Amino acid sequence: MKRLVLLGAGHAHLLVLRELARSPRSDIELVVITPTVWQYYSGMVPGWVAGLYALDQCRINVAPLVAAAGGRLCLDRSVRLQASDRTVELHSGVVEGYDYLSIDTGSSTRMGTLTAFEGEQVPVKPIEAFCEQWQQVQPRLMSAPGGHIAVVGGGAGGVELAMAIRESLKTTPADGKDFRVSLVAGDKGVLPEFNAGVRRRVRKQLAQAGITRVDARAEVRQGRLVTSAGQTIEADLVLAATGAKAASWLEGSGLALDTEGFVSVTPCHQSLSHPAVFAAGDVCSRQDGRLSRSGVHAVRAGPVLAHNLKAALDQRPLKPFNPRPYALYLLSCGQGSAIGSYGPLAFSGRWVWRLKDWIDRRFVEGFDQPA
Ligand SMILES: Cc1cc2nc3c(=O)[nH]c(=O)nc-3n(C[C@H](O)[C@H](O)[C@H](O)COP(=O)(O)OP(=O)(O)OC[C@H]3O[C@@H](n4cnc5c(N)ncnc54)[C@H](O)[C@@H]3O)c2cc1C
Repeated sequence: MKRLVLLGAGHAHLLVLRELARSPRSDIELVVITPTVWQYYSGMVPGWVAGLYALDQCRINVAPLVAAAGGRLCLDRSVRLQASDRTVELHSGVVEGYDYLSIDTGSSTRMGTLTAFEGEQVPVKPIEAFCEQWQQVQPRLMSAPGGHIAVVGGGAGGVELAMAIRESLKTTPADGKDFRVSLVAGDKGVLPEFNAGVRRRVRKQLAQAGITRVDARAEVRQGRLVTSAGQTIEADLVLAATGAKAASWLEGSGLALDTEGFVSVTPCHQSLSHPAVFAAGDVCSRQDGRLSRSGVHAVRAGPVLAHNLKAALDQRPLKPFNPRPYALYLLSCGQGSAIGSYGPLAFSGRWVWRLKDWIDRRFVEGFDQPA
């Protein structure tokens, strides 16, 4: 019997598990390794920060899904991988062998010099660690007289979180509190990869929300936040949404990695160096450069990954994951409205929020009945 190990219960693996739950295979031994039963759906996390959702609405319990797929759930995390021996070493010291391995462990935040910041630092990834930290930070902020929160990073995560935080720290003059929120977006400004209409709408929304936008790169010198324009930002808390960093345990695994340490894969999401290893989501780097790191792509890759894992087990041909030319991005503005982007199109309003809310809830609730 062949052993298939799914490492991480990330977005793509949720779809793999659902597929295996719908047509379980008695001829494979399935093992799922992930640190907790909860898989967070990042698209709803800014809504949780803004107070629009409870945390339980934004996360999926993977235990029933793994059970329905006929698998064994191992609540642990990998600390080493030996691709030549086909083994994964876990934090507990247990070593799990595999015939086929699929990796969907996400990424962490590329902090750079921000780690030297003298105040409090909150990295946005891993998302489960962010949610845990924010649960401590938010009530503490609300019990203090005020402060300045600087969100660093002008991508979708940074923009949405800046607006969500502004909403969650909303106070009236009578509260005697004065919170400032800044978004230090980077040299290219907000959302450089989105169309001009979306960027214009986002800039307008930030201004209306009272968020100070700084179109410059941030770094930390002598413990303080400074910008590439030479401005010092007197922040108390830095929330870092500064891009993805690869896991250190991939180094020395023997797997082919890209220059930043992410797993290099073919369009079929198979490792370039080890055909028994597959990877999807933030952890992988497509050789053809056709995928940016986003939850949308991780989810869409899921069904193809499921097909390819089964095909590899059965020695059948693999198929490539061909991302669509455009992906729909819906950015929550924190107070029941959203901004949408689809290729060259831009749109916004309360109806966009209602659409986003419907899509996101449907995704998460779709895992309530795994089989
Ligand atoms: C605030 C925010 C909002 C975002 N909103 C959107 C959005 O609206 N749309 C969009 O497309 N993208 C969005 N993104 C990006 C999106 O979150 C990521 O691209 C997406 O989560 C990647 O999914 P993944 O499957 O690679 O990893 P993840 O969803 O991060 O899942 C990784 C899983 O692996 C587990 N794991 C981690 N390390 C190990 C280990 N060593 N061993 C075993 N298991 C491990 C984790 O516990 C987790 O279960 C957002 C990001 C942020 C920060």
